[in-house]
Amino acid sequence: MSAEEVAGTAGPGRLGPTDCTESLLRVYEFLDGELGPEDCARIQAHLEECSRCLQQYDLDITLKALIKRSCGSEHAPDALRTTIMTRISMTVIQFE
Ligand SMILES: [Zn+2]
Repeated sequence: MSAEEVAGTAGPGRLGPTDCTESLLRVYEFLDGELGPEDCARIQAHLEECSRCLQQYDLDITLKALIKRSCGSEHAPDALRTTIMTRISMTVIQFE
């Protein structure tokens, strides 16, 4: 990513399609409990529109369920969290 791109995407109103890799990376933050409701909603929205990027890794259903729970108030079980973190790290490597 160039400096121009960073500057251009820093402002508000960036409502275009969320990048697949960005979404997966943000899921890390999400799993660490660092994402607010807005970012949760963004990831949810992306998965609604673009389940195909997760589907091939059999992640979408599990992840959607996890996000749904965690966007409420329930914390993800540690075992599930670890499984998903591992899968996501493999997926992100594939994208890169
Ligand atoms: Zn995607």
